[in-house]
Amino acid sequence: MINTKLLTIVVPIYNEEDCLCPLLERLQNVMRALPCKVEWLFVNDGSTDRSLAILKQMQREDTRVAIIDLSRNFGKERAMCAGIDYAKGDALVILDADLQDPPELIPRMLSEIENGYDDVYACRTVRKGETYFKCWSAKMYYRCLHYLSDIPIQEDTGDFRMLSSKAICALRRLDESERNMKGLFSYIGLKKKAIYYERDARVAGETKWSYSKLFDLAIKGLTSFSVLPLRFVSFMGCMVSLIAFVYLLVVVVKALLYGDPVAGYPSLMAVLLFLGGTIMLALGIMGEYLGIIYKESKHRPVYYINEYLPMRNEYSEPINPEKKGGIVS
Ligand code: UDP
Ligand code: MG
Repeated sequence: MINTKLLTIVVPIYNEEDCLCPLLERLQNVMRALPCKVEWLFVNDGSTDRSLAILKQMQREDTRVAIIDLSRNFGKERAMCAGIDYAKGDALVILDADLQDPPELIPRMLSEIENGYDDVYACRTVRKGETYFKCWSAKMYYRCLHYLSDIPIQEDTGDFRMLSSKAICALRRLDESERNMKGLFSYIGLKKKAIYYERDARVAGETKWSYSKLFDLAIKGLTSFSVLPLRFVSFMGCMVSLIAFVYLLVVVVKALLYGDPVAGYPSLMAVLLFLGGTIMLALGIMGEYLGIIYKESKHRPVYYINEYLPMRNEYSEPINPEKKGGIVS
């Protein structure tokens, strides 16, 4: 006898028309082995291809399929937030549509949830089909974040994980709009368990994360989970002032003792450029934090839903999720 009655599988979808059929096939195979009922919650994140039409067709053929159609492309972090808010299950899995995360791990994750864990996350041992630079930069970034932030952030881990009802409730209570889910999964704490897997290449299509989007996510992660960069600015200010003071003494003493008042154009330029650079760097770091405060201060909804199509079976009574975004009607 297991405690999980209904498991929700949340899949964010952005232009994944070629992945949906293979995904459905793999999911159907896995679901046969599961000892509980399942809801497949697809969050269409403003796809411009045939993804939504395919999802609606899937829903006509399968009563387990639910669809959230967001009003535009909000990005994966917010699409996941919508999925977490509207999930009906007492546990949920977040799965990418491109089958880079093997659904075959779901039964193992469920058994760990049944053992009392709240967040069973999949840790990548190998990342196939991704460039060396992407793997290296991701590793370095998460290592940095791990050292800079006050909370332990898991390395080599994505969003592929199963969450217990306790973890789902904790995530629903967060209402910041600038989200870095990987950090938030760590932030909520609770009992975590890693399971290891080899990450496959995409079955079809291309990654939706350009380097500029990844950079944006990285900055959000750093500014949301650490104020150490601000402390670094203060430290840098102190160091530069100290060096400047010592240099001032040297110049004055030289002028008094040797009558050498002109320090020279090159040294003047070097000092000017160095100070200019450090001031710009300090302003840039402070500006990043200011930008986050500016965005958060507007309290805009995290997402808007154009249409919500719940699954058509005994669980389809209307629900009232703790809303971060409203249905536009
Ligand atoms: N995705 C999304 N909105 C976006 C970008 C991506 O919902 O703006 C979804 C995408 O459809 C996929 C998942 O997020 O299901 C992971 O995206 P992708 O495979 O492009 O990321 P990667 O695996 O390269 O990190
Ligand atoms: Mg992918």
